Amino acid sequence: MPHAPVLVACFREVLWLHPEGEIEALAPADARSRVESETAMLCHAVATARRLETPAFPALDLLELFAFVYPARFCVPTPRGLADALGLPSPRSSAEACVTLAAAARALLEKLAEEFDPEARSIAEVMDRAGWLWGPAALAALPPAEPDALRRAAGLRVWARLEEWSESAPTPPPGNEAVRPEEARLRLAELLGPVEEQRPQQSDYAAAVAPAFAPRDRPDQPQAVLAEAGTGVGKTLGYIAAASLWAEKNQGSVWISTYTRNLQTQIAGELDRLYPDPGRKRRNVVIRKGRENFLCLLNYEDALGAAMGRPGRPAGHLGLIARWIAASEAGDLAAGDFPGWLAELIGRGRVGWLADRRGECIHSACPHFRRCFVEKNIRKARQARIVVANHALVMAQAALGGLDDATVPTRYVFDEGHHLLDAADSAFAVRLSGQEGRELRRWIVGAETGRRSRARGLRRRIGDLVEADEDGARALNDVLVAARILPGDGWAQRVAEGRGHQGFEKLLVLVRQQVLARAVLADSGYGLQADARPAAEGLLEAALSVAEALEQLAAALLGVSQVLRRRLEDPDDPPEVGLRQRLEATIRGLERRAGLQLTAWSRLLRDLAETPRSDTIEWLGVDRIDGVERDVAVNRNWVDPGLPFVELVAQPAHGFVVTSATLTDDAGTDDAADPETAWRGAEAGTGLRHLPVRPAAARIASTFDYPAQTRVFVVTDVSRDDFGQLAAAYASLFVAARGGALGLFTSIARLRAVHQRIAPALEGRGLMLLAQHVDAMSTATLVDIFRAEEDSCLLGTDAVRDGVDVPGRALRLIVFDRVPWPRPDVLHRARKPVFGGAQYADRVARLRLRQAYGRLIRRAGDRGVFVMLDRAVPSRLLSAFPGGVTISRLPLADAAEATVHFLEPATSEA
Ligand code: SF4
Repeated sequence: MPHAPVLVACFREVLWLHPEGEIEALAPADARSRVESETAMLCHAVATARRLETPAFPALDLLELFAFVYPARFCVPTPRGLADALGLPSPRSSAEACVTLAAAARALLEKLAEEFDPEARSIAEVMDRAGWLWGPAALAALPPAEPDALRRAAGLRVWARLEEWSESAPTPPPGNEAVRPEEARLRLAELLGPVEEQRPQQSDYAAAVAPAFAPRDRPDQPQAVLAEAGTGVGKTLGYIAAASLWAEKNQGSVWISTYTRNLQTQIAGELDRLYPDPGRKRRNVVIRKGRENFLCLLNYEDALGAAMGRPGRPAGHLGLIARWIAASEAGDLAAGDFPGWLAELIGRGRVGWLADRRGECIHSACPHFRRCFVEKNIRKARQARIVVANHALVMAQAALGGLDDATVPTRYVFDEGHHLLDAADSAFAVRLSGQEGRELRRWIVGAETGRRSRARGLRRRIGDLVEADEDGARALNDVLVAARILPGDGWAQRVAEGRGHQGFEKLLVLVRQQVLARAVLADSGYGLQADARPAAEGLLEAALSVAEALEQLAAALLGVSQVLRRRLEDPDDPPEVGLRQRLEATIRGLERRAGLQLTAWSRLLRDLAETPRSDTIEWLGVDRIDGVERDVAVNRNWVDPGLPFVELVAQPAHGFVVTSATLTDDAGTDDAADPETAWRGAEAGTGLRHLPVRPAAARIASTFDYPAQTRVFVVTDVSRDDFGQLAAAYASLFVAARGGALGLFTSIARLRAVHQRIAPALEGRGLMLLAQHVDAMSTATLVDIFRAEEDSCLLGTDAVRDGVDVPGRALRLIVFDRVPWPRPDVLHRARKPVFGGAQYADRVARLRLRQAYGRLIRRAGDRGVFVMLDRAVPSRLLSAFPGGVTISRLPLADAAEATVHFLEPATSEA
């Protein structure tokens, strides 16, 4: 056990537990100088440094030790979370948290003493030599290993320990047996078992979605069901019942697609009911993600090689990655069993480099091909009965005409259906920008100037395949020459200074100039937009010249692909399986970039000189974060992204369900009570109005008693533009609820301003305050902490609103700063006439309010208060809340008092 102090940093106080047992309270400035001279144990070094407002400092981070001892295991990254994970008493104060961290260190080192695997010792030795601060303690704790065993250990070359995948025969197409509604009900009852409560609404839901699994009678007319299920119905198990039956009867697979990763993980958890045996589940269920989510073993090996050349933290961190690789189920870095906080500690950029983010895979030429996590995921998905995917992947697959293995599913369930159009909007848009151009150049040319960059260009990836003959060498050279049109390193600076004199960068200079000249709210700090037409002087000429150069680049890429095709189709020397797969994957990559990306870019640029189309909108943008420019782009979006979604995803399918708790919005219009109007709105909001035949519609009401379980307050005496008043309102409501509060904001600047004002006061009341865009943690980590710490408060923006699932007391109050109107941008203006005119903004705002309100009650016993601090909220928006719920307009003091009274029974029961 290291003889080291323990540090716990809060906003108001910093506690320092001396190794001798004395606890000292330090002012933040004293703590800053103390950590420079003494190495302390703490929990989450990056977040602690941010809280102390100091650069990163050396520390014994308990989370690092946890990641070493329990790789691929999650714990909430707080002292309480560590205590829970290790079976220690939960701390109730900052002082107790200090003691908990010391106890956690002891418990982890004791656990390490039981680790007889020489692999652990071998990795720890390398990490120790690299300067890992836990190294000496870990080595002292680990049992000694035989020198021979140590020599044989793979250590950081952990790939050697992974199992290889094996190829299986292609699966035949699925059958066409229908799932009858009563069968779906029965399957649901089986899944629930004799003990679990049978809810009639859940059974009705399972029966209602069954028709989506009937055989298709006409091409292009899928069996479609649009199903709204109020919160508490238990829709996940409802559709799993019908989907699993279909998959079993027809030996096929159903793709369940979600918008958020959070739900992807939850669904995978629910599938335990279908496959209680972990082995069967592993064979039948796969969480399918894009390749950019998985660790690429070759990138890891590259990183290892680089780190060995310069000892220090990187090698230490790679040791933690090595431990995780050996223990990980799927090698999924983005979620799965890789703790989000580990990426925060190591650095998201460094972890990102370990994935195949840039499409640089060399397939069968890779020495790790047969152990590759990406390849394993692809192969598992081919055999699985249930594939849990996400909308972005499904849309990308459709846009690109099949993923790596050209899989095209026939049956889908789209959960979080209210986000389908958002996902389609991103997937089917065309964006030509500085960053995208730079990425493509890097994909083609590889690293040019940065010594730290490990980017592998085409020559490194496929030189051996094409340069064997003269034609191939010439074709590859043509590509490298043509790629010089694309922006290079430092493009952003040159463009911002107006120094891009030719080609792509000159175009970006003119685009930026037009945006700055025409955008309104130019000093808002957020992204700026302007219409693409009429183009400013010189822009069209520059666009046409870039279009021509991009077409030349596309032709050059196709030239290389031709060379590879000749090799692939050589009758005299047919390639063996591995080489064939590599050739096919490389050809796919080249043709996608030439035929889809570059062609779409050049068409977009040429179209700027043409009469605009009515179904798309072209616009120019300068992306900014906190006033700092990040990218400059020419964009094309579909006015109604439902059109490409239906054409490329929905119509080719044989059957699908689109489901959500918030699809219809049958209030706020004169013909509000008309369910037909509500369904028409839902069909427009999901894109399904473009199907040749209308989908079947089902609506199952929530099982919760919202009027009894919730209250809605609109505060009438807070000026929403006065940060002082806004902050005071948040603080008093959070205190009234005694935590368990989620503060939602329509802008990051407002969130930060409020956070700064209320953090010390809340801490003084013993309430932990977490904040997106402030704490050095990802949204997922913040939500995990918020869920685990029952009296904490969380401030966030849209991502938090959409991604929070916190049952029970941990979420009992939601406070909104303003009406969540859609951003009045160029896209909104184009879409307004197509999505209901003046009603469009109301509909979006109402659905957002419903979505946020729905987070309050996740179980029958929950109680919750929803507060709007915007007195200007129009009454017509309040129909977002269920009928019968008490909605009161009242001053802040009364709202706080009413919050106490309403929540008190729940808090006193607890
Ligand atoms: S096969 Fe591709 S993704 Fe897999 S480890 Fe090798 S280079 Fe990385």
